[in-house]
Amino acid sequence: MRPRALIVLAILSSFFSSASAQSVPNSGAPVQTPAASKFHINLQRLQGTLEKLSEFGRNPEGGVTRLAYSETELPAREYVIGLMKQAGLEVRTDAAANIFGRRAGSENLPVLLFGSHIDSVLKGGNFDGDVGSLGAIEVINALNQGAVKTRHPLEVVIWMNEEGNHFGVGTMGSGIAAGLIGSEILERKDEQGLTVADWLRRYGQDPAHLTDARIARGALASYLELHIEQGPNLDEAKVPIGVVQGIVGLNRWRCVATGFANHAGTTPMDRRKDALAAASRDLLAVREVVRAEKGRQVGTVGYVKAEPGAVNVIPGRVEFPIELRDLDAAKIERMWDQVQQKLKQIDKEENVETRCTEFDNVTAARTDPSIQAAIREAAKSLGLATMDLPSGAVHDAQQMAKLAPFGMIFVPSRDGISHSPKEFTSWPDVANGAEVLYRSLLLVDAR
Ligand SMILES: [Zn+2]
Repeated sequence: MRPRALIVLAILSSFFSSASAQSVPNSGAPVQTPAASKFHINLQRLQGTLEKLSEFGRNPEGGVTRLAYSETELPAREYVIGLMKQAGLEVRTDAAANIFGRRAGSENLPVLLFGSHIDSVLKGGNFDGDVGSLGAIEVINALNQGAVKTRHPLEVVIWMNEEGNHFGVGTMGSGIAAGLIGSEILERKDEQGLTVADWLRRYGQDPAHLTDARIARGALASYLELHIEQGPNLDEAKVPIGVVQGIVGLNRWRCVATGFANHAGTTPMDRRKDALAAASRDLLAVREVVRAEKGRQVGTVGYVKAEPGAVNVIPGRVEFPIELRDLDAAKIERMWDQVQQKLKQIDKEENVETRCTEFDNVTAARTDPSIQAAIREAAKSLGLATMDLPSGAVHDAQQMAKLAPFGMIFVPSRDGISHSPKEFTSWPDVANGAEVLYRSLLLVDAR
């Protein structure tokens, strides 16, 4: 074991018996947790910056609309760049408009990258992305305050257009950095007829150099992201820290049930080929199959389009998608086999024919077991309980998985609400997440 690791373990072991930082409802004012004296990060400072950031693009409901590539986001980026400079980071913006802030390490090693995003969805909230972004900058402030040196260089990253509400492509900046999105994206137009290239120019970048934003293989030691859960698991179980097992994969099929459109008044019930009746049973079959398995897998039929769509005609053709998500590709395959069997049976009984073709297939990205262990250890050193869980939502970390081992820390979302002005994480939970990020980072750095 390296001396650095010994020091970190010694520091952490002194916290093993410390009291748990309890969640208390938000009062609007900075809240000191019982274990606050043992915290390296400063909640008051972090809360102050989060509240200031929430002013950029604030909507009447109290959330924000701060789309990527917008006149609203630009000053928010300037604000965050200012915070990074104040924290002593060497700031650069890459050709995809991702923002990086670097803090030197003591050894010649690849970078420990961590951060999140500050763009929002239309009518979004104040925590999605913001907590991980400003939490990362707060970690740098805490390291500076303690004069802590790391072996690896540290870089805080603010990814461009994670939400993808603008241009319809999510995790755009990290996708470009991972080399999965190329210069074909530049000509993509928004509703105003402006292209990604136009906006990059507005953001001070030269679109001709877009692929310079690619991060070379081997450049990163690992990637860490703190994020709100965006689901109800932690909040319901009153567990403050989620250890993300991975970001789920998904498969999507487009299905068409074909029956026969005929007169609704004259066709006897036993002679119908009602495609909508079949599709209705199909979507319930999807739910039944997904619910029959243990675990957190999900399955959805997002819409049905019935044709011809008249009150007096039996639907002859129905189109609907089926989406299945899980961390385990074998489970998705198994569920799909069962769904297909059920659809076949329903076809027979309803006298229709249903065909499904796959149109989307995203493989799951599993987090690194040793980073998971570091997060658990960091939480334990604070007396905080953890829960292992998958991320059902897409994150930039999924793109970084192509380049380096990665880990994600989740903090609770009240009532599981996100992408809404009602999105809320209590300040003690925000503090816990940032402190766990601080400690996890040092553990990862030491190994
Ligand atoms: Zn997010």
